[in-house]
Amino acid sequence: CARAGAILTVDLDAVRANYRLLRERGQADGAQAACAAVLKADAYGLGMDKVAQALVREGCRSFFVAHLDEGIRLRQLVPADCTIHVMHGAMPGTARDCVEHDLVPVLNDPGQVAEWRALARELGRQLPAALQVDTGMSRMGLAPADLERLRQDPAWLEGIDLRLVMSHLACADVPPHPLNDRQRLRFQEVRALFPGVPASLANSSGVFLGGAWHFDLLRPGCALYGINPQPGHANPLAQAVSLAARVVQLRTVAAGDIVGYGARYVAQGERRIATIAIGYADGWLRALTGHSQAFVDGVAVPFAGTVSMDSITLDVTGIPEARIAPGQTVDLLCPQQTVDEVAGQAGTIGYEVLTRLGARFYRHYV
Ligand code: PLP
Repeated sequence: CARAGAILTVDLDAVRANYRLLRERGQADGAQAACAAVLKADAYGLGMDKVAQALVREGCRSFFVAHLDEGIRLRQLVPADCTIHVMHGAMPGTARDCVEHDLVPVLNDPGQVAEWRALARELGRQLPAALQVDTGMSRMGLAPADLERLRQDPAWLEGIDLRLVMSHLACADVPPHPLNDRQRLRFQEVRALFPGVPASLANSSGVFLGGAWHFDLLRPGCALYGINPQPGHANPLAQAVSLAARVVQLRTVAAGDIVGYGARYVAQGERRIATIAIGYADGWLRALTGHSQAFVDGVAVPFAGTVSMDSITLDVTGIPEARIAPGQTVDLLCPQQTVDEVAGQAGTIGYEVLTRLGARFYRHYV
């Protein structure tokens, strides 16, 4: 840890508490929605191994990843009774890998349906699958016309053990958006075509739209990791990550001296500058230049100059000299500054900040 430039602390108790809160939402008012967990992109950058194990201990038995490779990795980490859904489904030629690793592909288009059906026929047994239907986002899932066309063939699901029908919301983080209701109503129609098959619509923000969006299985990702699923409202979730970077060097600059690439920062008077060991290669985005801050013992110190690949310069003039020295850490994610706030400073979303958290960080799980 002393050798690392930056230290990322992942609070697995916070992830578990967030999972419990989401699961309770699904059970509110006598409802019966179960709660899965979306672990794609290495559990949004937090580390799939540790997060999966924490959630299994919390009773989670249903997981979603994006890619087949992620599913194969996750299969090694969770008990055999856990269901792992691969949201991109089986790409052409990879259906056998899903069977071999006991993964449930999400079938998104007629080609994936046909390939899964053909493999079931060849293997002479039913193969489990989820079906994604597009209800208005036009990103992934069977388009309405494709679904109609497929349904004209009474044998279209032959050999397919349909375990889940799902769709994804495009605007759930904006509750009044009219698409939320349109997608929900369209999904109700779709669901009626598959009686007895569990249905799933809600991502994290969808959970907070209310019970009408819950159906049988919640599918949260970002909320598990503390990102606010309801921007503009108080965040009911616990922050799951904190981040600190080490001071590499301290210097005093005079009025008129420039700091950093492009000479974008010009000292207006004598300033004390601390250079810290984190940069855009670690996901601390260049777009944070001039817009962000770090914290020394809870006191904010602004970025001074352009964010570099491996370092950031801070104006620490307000910090007494005895309180900051090379080797010491300053905080970037801490109670005073959340992932969502940093994302706002960079003009992006918390998902992007989390999923870019650096491979060079020393990772510490508590
Ligand atoms: N379901 C699908 C199909 C997704 O693509 C995602 C993530 O983008 C999720 C669920 C989880 O979304 P969120 O992280 O907003 O909860």
